[in-house]
Amino acid sequence: MAKNSLFLLPGDGIGPEIMAEVETIIAFLNRKGLTDFSLDRGLVGGSAYDAHGVAISEADMAKALAADAVLFGAVGGPKWDGVPYDCRPEAGLLRLRKDLGLFANLRPAICYPALADASSLKRDVVEGLDILIVRELTGGVYFGEPKEIVTLENGEKRAVDTQVYTTHEIERIARVAFDLAKARNGRVSSAEKRNVMKSGVLWNQVVTKIGREEYADVKLDHILADNCAMQLVRYPKQFDVILTDNLFGDVLSDIGAMLTGSLGMLPSASLGAPDAATGKRKALYEPVHGSAPDIAGTGAANPIAMIASFGMALRYSFGLIDLAGKLDEAIARVLGKGLRTKDIAQKGEATVDTRAMGAAILAEF
Ligand code: ATP
Ligand code: MG
Repeated sequence: MAKNSLFLLPGDGIGPEIMAEVETIIAFLNRKGLTDFSLDRGLVGGSAYDAHGVAISEADMAKALAADAVLFGAVGGPKWDGVPYDCRPEAGLLRLRKDLGLFANLRPAICYPALADASSLKRDVVEGLDILIVRELTGGVYFGEPKEIVTLENGEKRAVDTQVYTTHEIERIARVAFDLAKARNGRVSSAEKRNVMKSGVLWNQVVTKIGREEYADVKLDHILADNCAMQLVRYPKQFDVILTDNLFGDVLSDIGAMLTGSLGMLPSASLGAPDAATGKRKALYEPVHGSAPDIAGTGAANPIAMIASFGMALRYSFGLIDLAGKLDEAIARVLGKGLRTKDIAQKGEATVDTRAMGAAILAEF
């Protein structure tokens, strides 16, 4: 059996600390014969700049392109504030997204019962919440042309951003959302603003067509993005999969994040198009949080977002659904037992450090 390849890019700050916990889990799963991963490791962000003078080397880019999935820690920190713009740590992630063609960003918002009191909402509104936000990542107003600030004849300035979406771009992100919904609770809520935006009109039409022609078994409804924001804080459990564009997805997924408590808990996945020959998608998995330089090296980092990101890789890149489920259950159980890193502790008093949290999750297998 050909080994499944994982390329690890721990990055900067707490990145290497939380990635180490994932590596321990992978080594354990391989030893037990539950997985057959081959691992390779590279540098990205500030650590790549220190070693090679770039945010990611060409050799590591090639490895990322060849791997079945990339696990990414986090990049950046004050140490690299002054580096040339093209070499800034974030440029490594942007290059990866671009070259891997990652157009679909998946952000689950899961509220573990043991942490429901950490949400900004009431316990009964969020307890047991399990929704998935699917955000288009490579189009829309972030990249549309023209994009400029021009000075007018009267000296006033005029700023222009352009929202552009093509049928193809909407179809491919819609298929990702529908496929995911089929494997979940069979519902997609597509959020746009067709009442004021042409791109919203097209979005609505294309999603409706794909839903009718290819996914008759998935229930589709359309919701205006502002109403979606409101419904997310009013009664988020009404949703299963939320499908939306780049800009609305940015905002809605941050709302999703606050529903669940801490930044240290949130995983994400970014997927590309299926390969014509193998059907496999390029994929990168990373925690939502950054490199947290303020706590790097102190053992305070919560490894759960990174471990849950690996869980998403098991699910979406390798089809190891049962194992991914076991990992989620292991996380829920250690939280249920009261284990807390500082970020999720009630009065900020940690009961475990990074390594103990990782070890406790492993011990649940
Ligand atoms: P970026 O711009 O890279 O997203 P940021 O400035 O938004 O970074 P983060 O690095 O995500 O910020 O950290 C924000 C705060 O949350 C920091 O105080 C950090 O210590 C805390 N934090 C982030 N991730 C974790 C984690 N895994 N465990 C514990 N605390 C965390
Ligand atoms: Mg941030």
